[in-house]
Amino acid sequence: MNQVDYLRISLIDRCNFRCQYCMPEGTDLTYALQQNLLTQEELLTLLHEVFIPVGFTRFRLTGGEPLLRPGVVEIVQAIAQFPETQDLSMTTNAFLLAGMARELYNAGLRRINISLDSLQPDVFDAIIGHHGRSRWQQVWDGIQAAYQVGFNPLKLNVVVIPGVNDQEVLDLAALSIEREWHVRFIEFMPIGNDYLFSDRGWVSSEELRQRIRDRWGLTDGQVRGNGPADVFRIPGAKGTLGFISQMSECFCDRCNRMRLSADGWLRPCLLNETGQLDLRTALRSGVPLAQLRQQVRDLLLLKPEINYKERDSGTTGTYNRTMSQIGG
Ligand code: SAM
Repeated sequence: MNQVDYLRISLIDRCNFRCQYCMPEGTDLTYALQQNLLTQEELLTLLHEVFIPVGFTRFRLTGGEPLLRPGVVEIVQAIAQFPETQDLSMTTNAFLLAGMARELYNAGLRRINISLDSLQPDVFDAIIGHHGRSRWQQVWDGIQAAYQVGFNPLKLNVVVIPGVNDQEVLDLAALSIEREWHVRFIEFMPIGNDYLFSDRGWVSSEELRQRIRDRWGLTDGQVRGNGPADVFRIPGAKGTLGFISQMSECFCDRCNRMRLSADGWLRPCLLNETGQLDLRTALRSGVPLAQLRQQVRDLLLLKPEINYKERDSGTTGTYNRTMSQIGG
């Protein structure tokens, strides 16, 4: 087992997009009530008094859409200033990024992952469930702003859905050639949109790699990285190509993370709801911080058993919470 030192923190469960694979239009999404979200103070207390003391040093802010969280820049600044923080990153859809990239960078954020599922505005808008004036350009401007401000590495996340955007895999991979942009292809998971999933399924990373290999060749990247991606490079490219293959492969033995939802649930495994801790209720009812630390330590010990390694292919079953609620 890897050391578990990485916490994905969902700052908010709401999003300004309705991605088909995550929170499709028409589905009954129940949001946490405002009073049930961890306040900024509660979040920082949990990080400083519970997570850091038990060994977490790397944090990713996600959502929902983290840029919708009031006070997000202040939260970044506070986490970046903890002396124990070794890494702080964010996953965003970049819709609001152009106007915030500089402030976030100045607050101490250095790494950013941006979801970009298509280079074609009409396909992009269909994926994000948007009607009306296209949102693609504003997202693209957000990516350019992040690049100019100096976020490095800058990663672009692509969820590949057969028949929707898989015909663009070569165009998206080509973004890694000229600039030091790291494109990561994620196998679509049966969370959030069972209908789309059973209709279309997923494309294996190996199949994507073969398409890319046939076009340009593909070399193993030197870095495996700390995360779940297998990293490759188009020969001569400045950036890399990562493949996150949770459907075709099981990488639970490499899992180094837990997830904290916006309403304060600590979840030890993305695909298994066992063992979750309601830290918000505990904190608000005055459970001593030492006791919370012990509960999290106990959960860390249990995590290898909870990890979703016993799945068959992972293609069956749906999950109670969507990625936007868990903090994907
Ligand atoms: N709103 C931000 C964004 O769009 O990047 C952060 C939250 S989003 C839930 C985080 C990541 O989860 C995105 O890269 C998204 O593509 C991915 N994701 C959501 N649902 C997924 C699914 N069913 N399968 C695979 N990845 C998914």
